[in-house]
Amino acid sequence: MLIQGMLLTPAILLSIASYALLAVLVAFMAFGRRMDYSSAFVLCFFMTPIFGIFAIMKSDKTIRISHYTTRYQCTVCNYEFTEEAAYCSLCGENGEEAKVVPIRKILA
Ligand SMILES: [Zn+2]
Repeated sequence: MLIQGMLLTPAILLSIASYALLAVLVAFMAFGRRMDYSSAFVLCFFMTPIFGIFAIMKSDKTIRISHYTTRYQCTVCNYEFTEEAAYCSLCGENGEEAKVVPIRKILA
């Protein structure tokens, strides 16, 4: 009983350690995704790393956004204007009243 108990404890500790290590490694996969490292780790640790891999894979990839700018795009010719306008001036030259809609542009 005593020998068994002494052998069992390191074995349990080892499996817990390797399980935790696996969870840590899987959680690393969350980098560059729309999931932070700690929540990925918690997910891997409590829901098994297998589930963690699937959850991370299904999560969206992070889009790095440095700046946003508003541009105004013509609905007909798709020309982008920096200034707000009700109608496209380029299409207006052809006698068309093309609406200009504001769009969100990502600046890298
Ligand atoms: Zn236009």
